[in-house]
Amino acid sequence: MSHTSSIPASAYHKHPLLMSAERLQVMRDYARQDPEAFWLEQAQRIHWHRKPTKAFRGSFDGDVSIKWYEDGLLNASVCCIDRHLTARGDQVALISHREGRENAEKLTYCMLHERVCRLANALTDLGVEKGQRVAICLPMISESVVAMLACARVGAIHVVLFGGFSAEGIADRLHDSGAVLVITASEAKRGSKSVPFKQTMDEALLKAGKDSTVHSVLVVRTSEAAVPMLPGRDYDFHDFVDSFEPDFIPVVMPAEAPLFMLYTSGSPGKPKAVVHTTGGYMAWAAYTMGMVYTQHPGDVLWCTADVAWITGHTSVVYGPLANGGTTMISDSLPNAPHPGRWLDLVDEYKVTMLFTSPTAVRAMMADGDEVAAAHSLESLRLLGVAGEPISSDVWLWYHDTIGRKRCPVADTWWQTETAGIVLGPVPGAQALKPGSASTPLPGLELVIADQKGQIQQNMAEGSLCIARSWPGQARTIWRDHDRFCKTYFSMVPGFYFTGDGARRDEDGYYWITGRMDDVINVAGHRLGTAEVEDALATDHRLVESAAVGVPHPVKGQALVVFVISRKDAVTQLTEAGIKTLVSDTLGRYATPEDVYIVPDLPRTRSGKIVRRLLRKIASGEVDNFGDLSTLTDQDIVRTICNFVQDKK
Ligand code: ATP
Ligand code: MG
Repeated sequence: MSHTSSIPASAYHKHPLLMSAERLQVMRDYARQDPEAFWLEQAQRIHWHRKPTKAFRGSFDGDVSIKWYEDGLLNASVCCIDRHLTARGDQVALISHREGRENAEKLTYCMLHERVCRLANALTDLGVEKGQRVAICLPMISESVVAMLACARVGAIHVVLFGGFSAEGIADRLHDSGAVLVITASEAKRGSKSVPFKQTMDEALLKAGKDSTVHSVLVVRTSEAAVPMLPGRDYDFHDFVDSFEPDFIPVVMPAEAPLFMLYTSGSPGKPKAVVHTTGGYMAWAAYTMGMVYTQHPGDVLWCTADVAWITGHTSVVYGPLANGGTTMISDSLPNAPHPGRWLDLVDEYKVTMLFTSPTAVRAMMADGDEVAAAHSLESLRLLGVAGEPISSDVWLWYHDTIGRKRCPVADTWWQTETAGIVLGPVPGAQALKPGSASTPLPGLELVIADQKGQIQQNMAEGSLCIARSWPGQARTIWRDHDRFCKTYFSMVPGFYFTGDGARRDEDGYYWITGRMDDVINVAGHRLGTAEVEDALATDHRLVESAAVGVPHPVKGQALVVFVISRKDAVTQLTEAGIKTLVSDTLGRYATPEDVYIVPDLPRTRSGKIVRRLLRKIASGEVDNFGDLSTLTDQDIVRTICNFVQDKK
């Protein structure tokens, strides 16, 4: 919270290539005074077949129309590969580490070019045309990066689907997107477990039956295990693809042609895919990643997100490659086969920038300081997080114990819809405040609205909105533009509504308080989930916590908290102690009605705690939980139900 003192930019060794505070201010001013010129200049970060002469055209009113760089022509795979071939063709573009294999696969820009071109030829041979959708459902292996770029090369729209979805979840998304071809794997390893990708895909295609639009399936064989192949539909990826020519003339696309669509990660109900277009997205990916994760020669960026999330698209693939960097992927788990596994990989591959989720940081913290101390971690120069609020205590632990107080921690706030970092510090150019996602990047105008939709000035708390468009803004929800307008532009007319709550402090730094639909209202006091969880995180006997509101006859809502206790805690957490901690920090009104000490919490595969389910459990609505297939562990829902029922 804001009472933690800030850390000045001067606390870190200044790399000569990092941006100065003065330069950052110049950029901010320029972007404010002449946004059109500023964004046209940022577009020069990528390669255009025809340079755009216009930046933004459109409006957030009425039918909402958003267009960027409209007269520009480009191909995203050229931005990520071809333009680097002369200067750095032999530099490693992609490191792909596979658990249980001796050596990581290292693809140079030349090798990546070759693979992407072969697959582009194969896709064309199978009849994939510009504008058609291709579903990619793969584990974290090099083929996933190659597949995305090959789709871009032929002008097809990729839809990356998370491998952990149920057959039903996949079938729904294949149907909604109208995919014509699927790229999948035989199976994947998650620790000691095997995830049957192909089998699930077969079930999904069976469910779609005659309505299926999918005519071909490419299967990457990830193990020796035999998988059934349907002749005429299924192809062994490498047997088929590797015989094609290693060259393919990229299909030049208009800037506003869709590059990909992506289903948002957590929400219940009908899946919604947001659509991102080629020119705006590419310029935005290069800009945002270039501002926060600037690639210097020799840098290795490891963003641990799955490619199926927006962080995977922008921070694993398009951003680092557009900027000519080295990006790393791995199918490993943070603490399997032993605690500190990810830290082993940081040392082994000399990772310089580590970007992960708060959940993963909390898991590393729970492993104990000795695990971190047993690693060198010398290669690191920058740490990052995104995806959820991070409490100041966990931020400081990451900073001190993993970053050894040498590395700035960039907490970045963004969404599938924003496609890139909106709030985040420019390392080396500004002070950091533990637990705050800092300030908007230059060119972005964030505002805070109150409950009536009035825009608040200066220090304020309310719902976070964005006043002006940015190049990577989602253009629509696939086949449901109405839903797009309603979801994002009707709450505060004329502004993009993020759905998150935030507080802006005296220095203009933003503190995310949680999702607006999770806000707890106790007797007229509005409490963000992050505020409660922040208070709880100061007790280091606790690994993680989640706060929810349940109906209460007198107060309207009452606060209920779920906490996970640290296994090696010397003294035990008590419910009374937890209640006192919250009421002492936030006020008597915030005293939790109930406290449950549980073994784990329900979380999505992207690492987010699903408070919606906890709310249901705490209010005794245990009969209909909706689709649980995005959870890492569905059994935990039952376990927590039993805990709560036993106590009542
Ligand atoms: P759905 O919209 O389907 O519920 P989702 O919102 O979880 O899914 P994403 O777009 O992947 O899907 O996540 C964006 C959300 O994650 C943000 O709106 C915010 O709630 C949270 N978030 C992301 N980064 C941060 C951060 N640095 N601090 C706090 N919250 C964050
Ligand atoms: Mg969302």
